[in-house]
Amino acid sequence: MTLPRREYRVVVVGAGILGLFSAYHLARAGAGPILVVDRGFLSSGASGRNGGGVRQQWETRATVRLAREAVAAYRRFGREFGYNPWFRQSGYLFLAENGPELDRLRRVHDLVRSEGLASEVLDAGAVARLVPGIASDAVVGGTYLRSDGVLYPFPAVWGVYEGVRRLGVDVALGWRSRASKRPATGSPV
Ligand SMILES: Cc1cc2nc3c(=O)[nH]c(=O)nc-3n(C[C@H](O)[C@H](O)[C@H](O)COP(=O)(O)OP(=O)(O)OC[C@H]3O[C@@H](n4cnc5c(N)ncnc54)[C@H](O)[C@@H]3O)c2cc1C
Repeated sequence: MTLPRREYRVVVVGAGILGLFSAYHLARAGAGPILVVDRGFLSSGASGRNGGGVRQQWETRATVRLAREAVAAYRRFGREFGYNPWFRQSGYLFLAENGPELDRLRRVHDLVRSEGLASEVLDAGAVARLVPGIASDAVVGGTYLRSDGVLYPFPAVWGVYEGVRRLGVDVALGWRSRASKRPATGSPV
């Protein structure tokens, strides 16, 4: 594959959601020219085969903050990229089967609350009201954050792919370096 330019200032290896988003923010910061290379096709990695969950209930302050930024990014995604990833903020519920598990969830809840997110601790009755039909005798409670959500991964990847290309980033799919002797893992789109 012949690359469009001979020289790049930044080369990102991997056109998954992380590589593409990194290239997007680098391009917006004026770091170009930028090349993204991927040995496979778009969405051939984990970014094309995941549950699409976007949750903010994490156990470290850094990950809670990162996830809060991700929620904000996916809320504006349609306007920013012109693709609808169907981000639905229907909440994430974590269940505890016993006291120690609920204590651990409470510690996460305290951290998440301290970052300004409206996490709730639910007892078994509140869990049963939230999820009718759940075997409520199997749980002692849980934590719930309504602003957590889920999206479809494919439009997310495609949207950022189109976004980086609009910013002048070159994306080489199905790419193999001359040094590589291994076969490509997929076809270029
Ligand atoms: C079953 C499953 C469910 C998941 N559910 C969730 C979820 O609900 N919520 C959530 O937030 N996360 C979830 N994840 C995790 C999430 O999918 C990953 O964290 C995310 O997709 C990682 O993105 P990435 O860009 O780093 O990696 P990838 O999407 O894997 O992209 C890496 C790319 O790099 C390319 N590559 C690798 N090595 C080379 C090389 N040497 N040369 C050229 N190209 C190379 C690959 O071809 C690939 O396209 C899940 C993951 C799995 C597997």
